[in-house]
Amino acid sequence: MMEYPKPTVLIVDDARENIKILAGLLADDEIRVIFAVSGQAALDKVEREPVDLILLDVVMPDMDGYEVCRRLKADHRFRDIPVIFVTGRDSGEDEELGLSLGAIDYITKPFRSSVVRIRVQNHLNLRRLQQTLERLAITDPLTGVGNRRYFLDHIRLAQQRSEQNGASFTLIMLDLDHFKLINDGFGHDVGDTALMEIAHYCRVRLRPSDLFCRYGGEEFVVLLPDTGLHEGKIIAEQLLHGIGALEIAAQDLALHLTASFGVAQIEPGESYSSVLIRADQALYRAKQYGRNRVESDPDEKNN
Ligand SMILES: [Mg+2]
Repeated sequence: MMEYPKPTVLIVDDARENIKILAGLLADDEIRVIFAVSGQAALDKVEREPVDLILLDVVMPDMDGYEVCRRLKADHRFRDIPVIFVTGRDSGEDEELGLSLGAIDYITKPFRSSVVRIRVQNHLNLRRLQQTLERLAITDPLTGVGNRRYFLDHIRLAQQRSEQNGASFTLIMLDLDHFKLINDGFGHDVGDTALMEIAHYCRVRLRPSDLFCRYGGEEFVVLLPDTGLHEGKIIAEQLLHGIGALEIAAQDLALHLTASFGVAQIEPGESYSSVLIRADQALYRAKQYGRNRVESDPDEKNN
């Protein structure tokens, strides 16, 4: 299991005395506590550093806790941070309003210290579990790289960006050649080792901003942000030579594999599925023309 850093709890209250009390009962070896004395200061804090849970006062000058909660829930970056109201406003209507705004819990004063601590701990545990599940849902378990679902989420975002501000991107699809022979001839353990080594090689070889994912089986895909077709093809050629030069040690074998590549750049107004299809068609051509090669759509050779 992966090690986590200490979770951070943000306490928001215009009365420093209240912050002191809550911090005193929460801060320990397991929890890091930070604070803000106004609604705006709280919003600034979450912009600047990761926060795992917020204890939020309701009555504050300028911007009250309800408004802070509203704004957090309207922002996709902060929507998932659990918010617990801690307040003297103990009417049923207030509690209902707070929860309807998306708060996960509502604690009224006077509160019992041990109960606050336990509730905070419970919500932190749930958040950690949720984050673990989210990570598992987007990770390919064999290679540790993003899976198809993760890739599709990102290509959708990249396509939206290209529509909004013209930011372009190029896709590389790559498929290992004759991979079935490896699995059939040497067994799936050997095939798995090859997939892991090649994925690792590509991830290290690519730029930090490039997104490398397993698309399925022995097929991988790379999203190259702010990259044109020509540069994308150069990068594909580098991967082609790099993969070809790898010696994969599995059991007593030293395997050499090759891969075929299809490259396509998104066109203005094009959908993400269309550019995916074009990259896939280029990959198909690379297979047809003898494998272990890079093809693009459109084919650049005549340009
Ligand atoms: Mg207050």
